[in-house]
Amino acid sequence: MHSDINNVLTIDVEDYFHVAALAKSIRPEDWDTIAPRVSKNCYRLLDLFDEKNVKATHFVLGWVAERFPDLIREIDNRGHEVASHGYSHQLVYTQAPTLFENETRDSKNLLEDIIGKPVQGYRAASYSITRKSLWALDILADLGFKYDSSIFPVVHDKYGIRGSPEFPHILETPNKSQLVEYPLSTYRIMGQSIPVAGGGYFRLYPYWLSKYFYHSINQQSMPFVFYLHPWEIDPTQPRVKASLLSRFRHYNNLDDCYRRLSDLLSEFCFTTMYSKLDEMKLFTSNGPVTVSY
Ligand SMILES: [Zn+2]
Repeated sequence: MHSDINNVLTIDVEDYFHVAALAKSIRPEDWDTIAPRVSKNCYRLLDLFDEKNVKATHFVLGWVAERFPDLIREIDNRGHEVASHGYSHQLVYTQAPTLFENETRDSKNLLEDIIGKPVQGYRAASYSITRKSLWALDILADLGFKYDSSIFPVVHDKYGIRGSPEFPHILETPNKSQLVEYPLSTYRIMGQSIPVAGGGYFRLYPYWLSKYFYHSINQQSMPFVFYLHPWEIDPTQPRVKASLLSRFRHYNNLDDCYRRLSDLLSEFCFTTMYSKLDEMKLFTSNGPVTVSY
């Protein structure tokens, strides 16, 4: 069964050693001493996307763009959207607003210099725009981003805004600016919101269950957003010492992820986040602001 609804495919372009779950074991000062794997994994994804004829939004970490500008140009040349995943992959709610503003501006400028086009979208490291860091939404609006995709409407130890809207909407920032928000997908069951948007959840749930969630969302005539990291299709990546929970989150079912992704791309329709929000007319709406945060 193939649904006609265009869903949104997103890739957070970072390496395995950038991940927050492994941050206690690998310090940012050490990143340059580790053999990178992000390019090879990204090219494998780009080839799969060509084969399946789908376009994705790539939220690129500034640290990666600085070291692999040719990869970013290739992503753009193959017709995908290049958006920003910030610069340093630190949790936004642990950063000072000035530092966040400076590095977010620099990484947006860096991407725009590389591809020669405006960068419209932003996604925070580990979805770390929460009630503690709503100030970041004002900075994103000031920096000229048209949309954000950092808010997960779930309860989790590292991220989430409980009870926030589950589908794309226009939000009003604390300083009364407007920004389009594309929250990460959840599925409501027995009054609870379950995260289903991809990544570790896609590897955790049996594949048939993920497909059930996505079909159910499409049956409500709504699109889902799917995310994945290049390291999630790389089962031979070096193993890092970390807590049991962190290792489970990072390494669970890596060896089956590429096959599941390939199957998913055949079963559902996907487009970029900018295209989808444009299709939903969220950039042109002059109507009332949907949500104040
Ligand atoms: Zn990330």
